Amino acid sequence: MQHLIRARFARQGYAYAKKADEVAREHGFDRVARLASNENPRPPSPLAVEAAHAALRAGNRYPDERMDALSQALRRYHGDFRFVTGAGMDGVIETVIRTIVEPGERVVVATPTFSFYGIAAGAHGAVVENIPRNADFSVDTGAFADACRGAKLAFLCSPNNPTGTTTPPSAVREILDAIDGMLFLDNAYVDFSETDYRPLMREYDNLILGRTMSKIFSLAGLRVGYAFVPAWFEPFYLRAATPFALNAVSAAAAIGALGDSEHITTTRDHVSRWRERFLTETPFPALPSDANFVMLDVAPHTGDEVVDLLAAKGVLVRSCTSFPGLGDHYIRVSIGDDWENDRFLKAVGSL
Ligand SMILES: *Cc1c(COP(=O)(O)O)cnc(C)c1O
Repeated sequence: MQHLIRARFARQGYAYAKKADEVAREHGFDRVARLASNENPRPPSPLAVEAAHAALRAGNRYPDERMDALSQALRRYHGDFRFVTGAGMDGVIETVIRTIVEPGERVVVATPTFSFYGIAAGAHGAVVENIPRNADFSVDTGAFADACRGAKLAFLCSPNNPTGTTTPPSAVREILDAIDGMLFLDNAYVDFSETDYRPLMREYDNLILGRTMSKIFSLAGLRVGYAFVPAWFEPFYLRAATPFALNAVSAAAAIGALGDSEHITTTRDHVSRWRERFLTETPFPALPSDANFVMLDVAPHTGDEVVDLLAAKGVLVRSCTSFPGLGDHYIRVSIGDDWENDRFLKAVGSL
């Protein structure tokens, strides 16, 4: 029956990280350092867990389709902005594409970057145009803005996955001034950086800031994403969205997590402390990072080789070979718990 499947999915889809329990079994470890998916090694805040429990008891009812309580919690956390929500930022990305783009239209992506923009836009029938970054992985704002002309939607990730690079707000402003469509700025890792793009929302009506609860807020398994959107855009997003995509338990957990400032500051401090060590104590050149991971250039090895070598030492990291537009000699390493980071530094030092 496979002839029924669309050609784009017949061969490949999203590249997932290797499973920790498989690696543990294969190499005889009780536990594996899970540094491949940029998760927060800390479990969710107790406030998130309690709120989720309470919501579970009302699970017979559909959630509020507008997610008013979550939007209110987001306004308490960020200030007076408009928000839309979804099942992970991935869900938000999909809905934004569906809201704006007709099949056959162009969608522009600054690469190398997170692969899901291209996958989601392509699956929707859009023509994806990848615009390579400069050699130092900064954005070529001129080339990017030129490509955006005539396109209704473009994706830019900052801090960028997998390079860790931040695009300064001044460069984002340059792009926003030059384009006539929408810019989706993916801020999945902005909580780990010093940069704040939120003031741009007050100035531009063609900007969307994508956010996730999967990283600093420790809710990757609950799939909560949201975005800052211009007021004019919100009602159309709601029309295009899958009904009730974000479930009530996850939404309640997100509200709880937003209220735990200790969880956030502790994680941020932990990440910046270890990031410094990852950047200076590995034998491979590392790119400066503003995220909870670093990218290492492992040449003359390939990324795939180093992933296997580290797996044999009980450390799971991500090869960057699946990121469009990157060479085959990079790995991405998340900042994990102390014992995980120690094991990684020891393992990578002995390659
Ligand atoms: C992790 C990640 C996301 C998506 O997160 P969700 O878990 O779907 O909320 C989006 N963009 C980038 C760049 C990411 O790394």
